Amino acid sequence: MRRPLIAHPLAVSLVLVAVVFVVDLGLQLGVASAIPYTFAVLIALHARPAWAAPAVAGLCGVLTIVKLEISPDRGTTEMWKVLANRGLALFSIGTTTLLGLLRRRAETNRELAEERAREHQAALAHMGRLSMLGQVTANLAHELNQPLAAISLQADVAVRLAVLGEPVRPELSATLGAVAEQAARAAGILKGIRRMAGRAHPGQDLIDLNDAVRVVVRLLDWKVRRADAQVELRLGELAGQTFGDRILIEQVIFNLFQNAIEALTGREGVKIVTIVTTETAEAQTLSVRDTGSGLADTEKLFEPFFTTKADGMGLGLAISRTIIEAHGGRLWATPAKSGGAEFSFTLPVARPEES
Ligand code: ADP
Repeated sequence: MRRPLIAHPLAVSLVLVAVVFVVDLGLQLGVASAIPYTFAVLIALHARPAWAAPAVAGLCGVLTIVKLEISPDRGTTEMWKVLANRGLALFSIGTTTLLGLLRRRAETNRELAEERAREHQAALAHMGRLSMLGQVTANLAHELNQPLAAISLQADVAVRLAVLGEPVRPELSATLGAVAEQAARAAGILKGIRRMAGRAHPGQDLIDLNDAVRVVVRLLDWKVRRADAQVELRLGELAGQTFGDRILIEQVIFNLFQNAIEALTGREGVKIVTIVTTETAEAQTLSVRDTGSGLADTEKLFEPFFTTKADGMGLGLAISRTIIEAHGGRLWATPAKSGGAEFSFTLPVARPEES
């Protein structure tokens, strides 16, 4: 609510009305009295309650007519002129009041509309925060699921190996190493997500796509073996530099690779996942191709919560696309010539002046 220009508008306007009336009585202001009366009405328009201005206007009108009775100008002026004067005075007081009231109503409506718009915006911001929170939670649940599952699996193996004692020491230390690696990975994922949520910009690590592929292939080696699949790496020479959040990019490759293995699981015939990296002057491209079930629709897959798996969350591809786009790249799917699916993404190569 805005502060009023005058502290007590109703009182000021009534004092003004009284002064004008007295002066009008003495000086025979005629139609000129309407001018200060309209000021009084304009001042009263700032007063609360809302009826103050019409009441002051009514009082001014009454006084204008009363003045005619108390001190008629008849002696000096013709009657029709006196009546015309007073009529004009009443007219200007009336129109000022009407215009003032209309303007005040428009202002009140505008303030109400502004208030409603503010409330609406606050509600939207709140909803935005809630849905953001929902997405981050779903994201965390999805991304942390795998390293936590791997940690618990490896820890189980470690417990069994520990019972066997000395002869399996090397295996035990390898398993514990894997546990530590997965735990570090979970921490890295949390860090990456926190960074994305905070800044909306990914980190600026120098990314070696081929290295990232090797890390992911090692992490999912157990799954490849369980699916009885083969992995073929065709990693090209990558001379250009790409920058971003290394862990998040690894996460994208992880999602694509894991989906490819899952598409092969339980199938008959050739089960191969091929990962290819290539480079042009503008971008580096990574493709994950499988000989699996193939794709029915190449766009729907990227919608959040779209899944055809019994235990799927349908978030891997949606999150992966968000991550790649936040890095200035593109992620898309095509049916592979081999009959399976092919997922590819690009990352822009930084020009010398950008790096
Ligand atoms: P989720 O794996 O939890 O289902 P994703 O977003 O990773 O979530 O994948 C969404 C859907 O896309 C999968 O349920 C599957 O139907 C399809 N999909 C993803 N990758 C492949 C692939 N390599 N081959 C066939 N279908 C795939």
